[in-house]
Formats: sequence, structure tokens, C-alpha cells
Amino acid sequence: MTSARACVLHAKGDIRIEDRQVAAPDANEVLVRVGAGGICGSDLHYFQDGGFGAIRVREPIILGHEVAGRVEALGSGVSGLAVGQKVALNPSKPCNACRHCLQGMQQHCLDMRFMGSAMRLPHVQGAFRDRIVIDAVQCVPVDDALSLGEAAMAEPLAVVLHSLNQAGSVTGARVLVTGSGPIGLLTLLAARFAGAAEVVMTDVADEPLFLARTLGAFDTVNVAASAADLDRHVQDRGHFDICFECSGAGSALAAAFAAVRPRGTIVRVGIGDIASLPLNMLVAREIRLCGSFRFHAEFAVAASLLSDRRIDVRPLISATYPLAQAKAAFEEAGDRRRATKVQLVFDE
Ligand SMILES: [Zn+2]
Ligand SMILES: [Zn+2]
Repeated sequence: MTSARACVLHAKGDIRIEDRQVAAPDANEVLVRVGAGGICGSDLHYFQDGGFGAIRVREPIILGHEVAGRVEALGSGVSGLAVGQKVALNPSKPCNACRHCLQGMQQHCLDMRFMGSAMRLPHVQGAFRDRIVIDAVQCVPVDDALSLGEAAMAEPLAVVLHSLNQAGSVTGARVLVTGSGPIGLLTLLAARFAGAAEVVMTDVADEPLFLARTLGAFDTVNVAASAADLDRHVQDRGHFDICFECSGAGSALAAAFAAVRPRGTIVRVGIGDIASLPLNMLVAREIRLCGSFRFHAEFAVAASLLSDRRIDVRPLISATYPLAQAKAAFEEAGDRRRATKVQLVFDE
């Protein structure tokens, strides 16, 4: 038995750093010394609003599901991992026995345990703690030269790679990404890597759009300042082959219909507003609209793409805070003009 320091949310705005006991790893488990953890939109909703939609924080919960660390001890029967090895932690723990799991759709598992999620009660505790015991299969090795902060981006990158898989081939495609937060910017990087012909980014703030341009966006549009600027891209019944809606704003999803060409695809990645949609346009242009939820096989792909920096996420990590300053980290993460991805770091 050893102890861990954890970032625990008790209620909206009430974050405390507390000690937790950590048992020795059991068979097929691993003790990981966590090094870095990114604050995700869902963590931020728990902190700012006590939840989102019907999902509410009903008991103290350790937040965090975007983490990476080093293996500190191995339980019996673990192979393929070594003490000291850097790993990205896959927060997804499907049952692998229900009918959706057996069809290869683990993200729709009927008995999913996703780290740091208040969806079920008791809540599944998260990974913003300096030590965690976790199933060995959830530890995905990354290159030792990769920083743990970069490795912690495997989770949001996996979300993005799943949305690309939902869209079909991106090679040669004209792509619109609405919302230039971390998921939108990762979509830009992943779409460029996958061979998109052009990626146009929108947002309601200038700062993330500036970053988008430095990361290779073909054009950027501030839809709050001048939504009409998107018009130059929506001539002749729509210009884009694919739109990734990453903002969660209902208005952005509705606007995507005018921007996508006949038989184009809209993928909704962000969970957000209920929107009223121009469904007659969906019919008349034969637009394909689909959702994208979490990931499964894409996690290992994300870890691999990060490992040799075929996708380089360093420009997206905008700030790091020690665990003791977790509250300040969450406050900064909520400021879109300053923050892209804010991470907590844990002493080694
Ligand atoms: Zn996340
Ligand atoms: Zn299942």
C-alpha cells in the first residue's frame, strides 16, 4: 500500500488536493507514476457547471482522463511492459463481453468504465493523481523521447482519429472544421496528415484562429466577427467535402449544411446544444450527417503517431501547472483567449 495525491472535485468549483491509498497492482495490473494530465472539455464542465446535460457530479470524483506516466511496478502475469517505461493511459475500459463490444464497437459498451466520468454511480474515478493502478491493457507504450505531456494528448487525438474514420477518406478532401479548441486544432493536424487538400477553420475568438494559421490552416474565419467571410467558401451549393463540427454550438452545426457540397459529410464531434437543423437541405443535398463518440482502436494509433511526431502536438500545450495549483489550471483552461490545452504535471 502506498499513497497518492489526487485532484478531487467535490462540487462545482470545489477542487481539493487529497491523499488516496493505492494498493499494489493485482494480476494483469500495473502501478503507474503519472507525469502529466490534460484538462478536457468534460473536466471543465464538471468544474464550471457540476456536469453537462443529465450527467451530474453526485459524489467526490477524481477528474482526468488524458494522462501519461511511467510504469512503476508490474502485477503478476503482465507482459510487454517494463518498469520505467513511458505509457499513455487509455481511459476506456469496456467489458469486451456485451453485444456491442463483441461487434467491435467498444465505445458503445453496455458496461463501460471510462476514467473520470460521472455517468455512472459510483462514479468511475479519474487519473489526475500522481499514482494509479490500472489494467495493463490500458497502458500503451510511447517512445522514451516523447514528453509525458505530449503522450497525454493520445486521448484527444484518438477522439479525432475516430471522427476521421467516421467521415471516410480525407485524402484530397476540402475540409471545414468548426470550432478551433484542442479537438478542432487536432482535427486540423490529423486531416492535414491524412492528405486533406485544404482545411478551413472557424471559431468565435481570434486567438485560436491565429494558432490554426500557424498550424497550416488554408483559411480561418471568425464567425462571431464576420460570419459572411465563410460565404466565399459556400458558392455553388457548398464547397466542402467534409465538415467536422467540433464546437458543440448548435448554430455551427446548422451553418455547416450550407457549407457542405451535395453528398458531403458532416461529422458532429462536440457534445453540445440541441440545434434546429435545416433537414430539407439534408434531403435536397443528400448530405450525410453522423456523430462521433470517443474511440477504441484509434488510441493505439494516436500513441504511435505521437511517438515519432508524425503528428506534433507541442504547439497545442499552452500551459502546465503543478498539481497543487489545479484550481488555477482549471481557471486558465476556461479562458479560450489564453488557453489551448492546459495540463497538470506531477512531480517525478
Ligand atoms: Zn478528453
Ligand atoms: Zn461491453
